[in-house]
Amino acid sequence: MACKALDAAFAAAYTQGMKNTPSFLSITLPWPAPARGNAPVRPVFIPFSGCPTRCIFCAQHVQTGQGQRSLASILAAVRDDLRQRRARQAPAVELAFFGGTFTAMPAADQQACLDVAKQGFDEGTVCALRCSTRPDCLSAQAVHRLMAAGCTMIELGVQSFHDSALVTARRGYSGAVAQEACATVLAAGCALGVQLMPGMPGVTAAIFLQDVHKALTCGAHVLRYYPCLVLRGTVLEDLYRQGAYAPWTWQETLAALTQGWLMARQAKVPVIRMGLAPEEGLDAAVLAGPQHKALGAEVQAQALLHTVEQACRGQKLQALIVPRFCQGFFWGEKRRLAAAWAGLGLSSQQLHWHAQPELVLHCAPE
Ligand code: SF4
Repeated sequence: MACKALDAAFAAAYTQGMKNTPSFLSITLPWPAPARGNAPVRPVFIPFSGCPTRCIFCAQHVQTGQGQRSLASILAAVRDDLRQRRARQAPAVELAFFGGTFTAMPAADQQACLDVAKQGFDEGTVCALRCSTRPDCLSAQAVHRLMAAGCTMIELGVQSFHDSALVTARRGYSGAVAQEACATVLAAGCALGVQLMPGMPGVTAAIFLQDVHKALTCGAHVLRYYPCLVLRGTVLEDLYRQGAYAPWTWQETLAALTQGWLMARQAKVPVIRMGLAPEEGLDAAVLAGPQHKALGAEVQAQALLHTVEQACRGQKLQALIVPRFCQGFFWGEKRRLAAAWAGLGLSSQQLHWHAQPELVLHCAPE
């Protein structure tokens, strides 16, 4: 790569020198690396378990790569995996039950999952537990039971807080119910995750940004953005084929998620996932929609460009110093952002890296 890596001392001297040059605008902006969990997450996908209905966009057995397996065989595989991790002294994991409606599963099935977690806690292979569920399937009692079993985060598949969008997507609950569920999780002292679905039927870019705002004001500790895809075998496929639904374009998705990501960053709330995980069989199942394996990286690249653009206020970049963790995505996929950066005056020679969690910009009038 043509970009020159600066050590911290050189970067500091460089910055000071530029600051002392008349008419140069020097700006430092915090740009920390996205927060990571303390432990590796071991997802346990329990497709459709407990779901009171099949949501029109959902194809969990495909999304999760699990096919039609029984809960017993899924849990047996988890036990086996934990046993092997223990044998090779691998670090303890956070067990995460996703892909269904955990709190609406039959009590015996919930207990079977919690038993696996308990064994993991006892043996030291599990250090934390989380699960996802629907907002309309959650009571204070259910939260307390999960917390007593070691659960420290509940993720709610809210998708949207907007009543009309929830009706259009036939979710079966209102925005008020989703807000109450958030409050129930927090009132119990549990961490809250909120999953949103930009592009779901009825969700425009403006509604998605309102949803992000609402999730943040509701006190979410983490967010996930899953842009709506048309998956084969869903009701949404029928609507799409009838012309009654059109997924967001890639450009719409990128623009909206960039704004949503910046809003969350401003609130210091991490967006821990953008886009469906690339499970086996997913590519073949996607009929239409803004699927991208590196959506999160592309959004971060776009957000960085947007932030620098705003900060320059029409002036041209003379130099830009960027945290090293951005090296992998700075230019975007296939250098798609190179022209936009060039438009701001940035060449590879003017781009430098450092270990600090901040952006340093030097601009000057054209
Ligand atoms: S979106 Fe959630 S609640 Fe709806 S069917 Fe899928 S897993 Fe179940």
